[in-house]
Order: sequence, then C-alpha cells, then structure tokens
Amino acid sequence: MRRSLFLALGILNLVWFSAAGQDIIYARSCIKTLCSSDFYGRGYVNNGDKIAAQFIREEFAAKKLLPLGENYFQPLGFPVIYYPARVEITLDGVPAFAGTDFIMNPGCPTVNGTFKVLKLDSALVDNTSDFGKLRGKNFKNTFFVVDELKSKTLLHPERAKLVLSNGLKAKGLIYKNNKTLVWSPAMDFAEYPILYFKEGSFPDLVLKMQVKIDASYKVHGTQNVIGMIKGKTQPDSFVVFTAHYDHLGMMGSEVMFPGANDNASGVAMLLDMAKYYSKNPPNFSVVFIAFAGEEIGLIGSYYFTQNPLVDLKKIALLINMDLMSTGDEGLTAVNATEFPDLFENLKLCNSMGNYLPDIAPRGKAQNSDHYYFTEAGVPAFFFYLRGNYHHYHDIDDTYSELTLSRYKEAFQLITDFANMRMGK
Ligand SMILES: [Zn+2]
Repeated sequence: MRRSLFLALGILNLVWFSAAGQDIIYARSCIKTLCSSDFYGRGYVNNGDKIAAQFIREEFAAKKLLPLGENYFQPLGFPVIYYPARVEITLDGVPAFAGTDFIMNPGCPTVNGTFKVLKLDSALVDNTSDFGKLRGKNFKNTFFVVDELKSKTLLHPERAKLVLSNGLKAKGLIYKNNKTLVWSPAMDFAEYPILYFKEGSFPDLVLKMQVKIDASYKVHGTQNVIGMIKGKTQPDSFVVFTAHYDHLGMMGSEVMFPGANDNASGVAMLLDMAKYYSKNPPNFSVVFIAFAGEEIGLIGSYYFTQNPLVDLKKIALLINMDLMSTGDEGLTAVNATEFPDLFENLKLCNSMGNYLPDIAPRGKAQNSDHYYFTEAGVPAFFFYLRGNYHHYHDIDDTYSELTLSRYKEAFQLITDFANMRMGK
C-alpha cells in the first residue's frame, strides 16, 4: 500500500471510529483501576470482588443506567476456599516465592510444618524390589516429587498411577516443569496438597521443605451488577451484554492475580458500551450485567438464569465478552454453530466494516457466562479475541502487558452486530 493512501485511510479510520463512540482511553482507565492492588485481584481475600462490584455500580450510576435488583446489585453467595495469610515455602532454608516459583492446586488444604522430600523417578518405580519397599511405609511427613512419572515411558505404568493418585498416602505431591504457573479458585478442599514448581526453582536435591499454607473456608456473599437502558421503540425486547468481573484474587496476603485480559478487558468494554448506549439510545432495551463467581464455576450467571431480572424469553441477543484485549488474529464466536444465521450477520458486519482479520466459529462450550443462557433457550454468544498474548490465570496477566490493539475494531463490530439485531 502506498504511503499517501495509507495516510488517507488512517484519517478515514479516525473519523469512522470517533463517530462510533468507543472510548479506548476510558476503557484503559477502567482496566487499570480493576487491576490495581486496591481491588486484590477481584477475588475472595479482603472482599476484592465486592470492591470491584462497587466500582462497576458507580460507573453504571454515572451513566444514569436504570438500576435492576437492589440498586444494581443482585446478591448471591457460594462457598469458597481462600488463602488470606502469606503462603510460605522454604527449601533447605532457602525461600521459594508463591506465584513466581511455585503454585498450589486449587482448593489446596492447610499444610503447616517441615517435611521430607522424596523423588520418585522411573528407575525407582520400575524396580520391583525398591517399589515394594515403599508399600506400607508411612509417608504422612513426606512430599513426593513425581513429575518424571508423568513424562517417562514406564515398564509399570500402574505403579506410577498409584503414586500420582497418592495411593501411597504421602503428605502431598510435587511437580516441577516449565509450564506457566496457572491457578484457579475452588469451592471444595482438594484431598491433598499438590505443589507445582517452576523447573529451576526446585533443586535436584532437597532434604527438608518447610511449608505454611493456611486454607480458609467461607460462604462468600457477593453480587451480580446489573443496569439497563430503556429501548426507544421496543422497550420490551432486550439485548444483553455481559462480562464477568471476578478473578482469582490473592494467593496469600502478597500474591495477586490482576486478571487484566481475564476479564478486566471485558468489563471495560461492557462499561464503554454502557457509555455509548447511554448517549445513543437503542431501539431495544439494553441490559448490562457484570457477573460474579465466573472463575469458580459460572455461579453468577447460573444464578441469574435461575432468578432472572428480565424475562429470558424476551432476550433477542446476548453477547458475553471475556478476554477482550487482543484481536490481531481475530475473534472467536462460541455458539456460532448453534445460531448460524446470527453468526452470518456477525461475519457480514465484520466484512462491511473491515474490522478484524478473522471471525472463527466455535460450537457450544461450557467455558464462560453465556452457557446457562444458551441452555435456557436464549440466543447467546461468547466472544473472545485472539492474538499474541499468553498470560492466563497467572500473576503476569497485568494491565501493563495489554495492548488493546484491536479494541476499537472489536467494539465497533460488536455494537454494529447488536444494532443490526435491534433494526438500526
Ligand atoms: Zn474469564
């Protein structure tokens, strides 16, 4: 492309986008706020998710959205395992750092004390006499290092299976590998602790390991946050935008999972859309829902479908946004195969506006908050953007890592698609 033409198109884009009403500066500031340490990773330590809900409610109110529920809140609750105190591990006296060097399994029970470490490699497990000696021994003060038993071809895979399911009743298991340290919240305690170490963070020989992990349990009171803009011509028909605002929170008092892409980015787009529709009144009523409890099992959205604040039968279209910070490789539409006509419209909007390089169809999947709406018969999509971004459920999914490179195009595409459904 010639430079002059490129410049001309650049100016055209600018006009086109400013007309569209997205506000990437506002979206960025929302992401920055949601990912700040004041929000504790929007989880269950220090009620981080409640702080985030309060912020979203204030943003809804500032745009004069009509409150649904109790002043924008739909209260709900669920059990949760959380870790309010500092998580500590030392290996022969040398500290290892939570989130960076190691992570524990979701729902890891309390572990407190000094433990022996025993490496169970393939040679030991395949040696009948050595393995026989392990049986019947008491390992309640021992952690087994077991990563080799997963990767190697073994003569006796059933023995590895026994070890890996903790059939020898060790205190816990240790894996070391170079995978990213990925975490999730849990409602139930795991049977035994599993510690995942980064290769290089766990020496070949460790004699003593000190562990202090204090797991707490509570029934956590939380809330969905819901606002509405009344439709001009068909106020009894609804288009619904959703995004979950919860994330993993804190692993102990010091390690935070900011959840920038997952899903501060989706919430920012949701708030930006609320801003846009409050200035450009839509034909249908438009509902904005920020869901709680997604990461722990789609709890907030499930609760809403069981206790709907708008008639589910009158929802003409629901768009759930989760992981919205990239887009250089395009957008994926979960449920495309369920709603082929709507998906064709989405592709049409994209080619008319020349927004994203690819719109990929995907089938039904129970992987975000659209799911229970589809099950309830609502035409619902889950959109996520694809691009060169690989932080997911780790401590590096931070505000500063995000580019929002195709934010404007994605915003424009999604609002075009919703507006088309509302006959605009
Ligand atoms: Zn998510």
